[in-house]
Amino acid sequence: MKERMRILVVDDEESLREVLSEVLTDDGYPVTTAATAEEALAAFGADPYPVVISDIRMPGMDGITLLERIKAMQEETQVIIITSHASLDSAVTALRAGAYDYLIKPFEDLNLISAVVARAADKVRLVVENRVLVEKLKRYNQELEAVNQVLRELAIRDGLTGLYNHRYFQERLAVEVARSHRGGHQFSLVFLDVDYFKTYNDTHGHPTGDELLRGVSEMLQRWLRKSDLAARYGGEEFVILLPETDKAGARELAERIRREIAEHPFAGRESQPSGRVTVSMGVASYPEDGRDAREILKRADEVLYQAKHGGRDRVCA
Ligand code: GH3
Ligand code: MG
Ligand code: MG
Repeated sequence: MKERMRILVVDDEESLREVLSEVLTDDGYPVTTAATAEEALAAFGADPYPVVISDIRMPGMDGITLLERIKAMQEETQVIIITSHASLDSAVTALRAGAYDYLIKPFEDLNLISAVVARAADKVRLVVENRVLVEKLKRYNQELEAVNQVLRELAIRDGLTGLYNHRYFQERLAVEVARSHRGGHQFSLVFLDVDYFKTYNDTHGHPTGDELLRGVSEMLQRWLRKSDLAARYGGEEFVILLPETDKAGARELAERIRREIAEHPFAGRESQPSGRVTVSMGVASYPEDGRDAREILKRADEVLYQAKHGGRDRVCA
């Protein structure tokens, strides 16, 4: 069963208040009456009504002003204005001011009152339903945006270490090449590969190997600047992109990372060939080692290979 809407009837003429009140009470609405706009505003302010029927001309505040005040307080309320035959112009004024409809007095057909009020009540229901739907939609959109944000983040991260993944690194490298070319500045790449990681895995098991990779990743993230980017290139190989950094600067940073890792007391490191967990690193810089991403990657890989063959636990550039 539909909930009947409370209606506020405002008219300075008692006989009119009575007619309206009787018709609408018969229709099943709870009706409140007020003899002045001021009285009506006080009642509305205390507990807003969804539908208000008001005479246009009253001593004190008139119906149009009341309409405007009510709309300012609660936009959703539908207001029906009562005018006399003599002043149809004022009906137009009322509609312009936001009235839902108007009734002409003296009332010739009481059914018309019922019909206009029923339509106004339907309109209130629609407006409220619409607002609820819009709010729901807004909430869904916010939730969707939050999920998308998480998905976007997941798509560019490596699941094991939380560092950026290979694909995202490639994108950023391409951007960095273009940016450095345009701006005429340098940048460097550092490849980092864990030494004898297979031995570590074989001795301590894969899960402990994963822990080591996570540990190395955390250390990298701690040491890098905000503008630097660390990614897991694959397996136990990492890459660091250092914008606006020349080879000397990159080499210095790589050397520090190498030392810190070698000194870090990783679990089970004593079983590694050198008694420690160590890494080998290769540094390549734009533009001296290549003019595009492919050339620079190739160079970084070559010098990493040199570091491995030169005895590991070292930086080659
Ligand atoms: P080198 O000093 O020449 O780098 O020797 P290495 O043993 O580190 O290199 P190799 O390429 O022979 O072995 C790398 C190992 O890394 C083999 C592979 O099982 C292991 N690995 C690759 N990805 C993961 C991973 O996500 N987790 C673990 N635990 N191990 C991995
Ligand atoms: Mg290795
Ligand atoms: Mg490797």
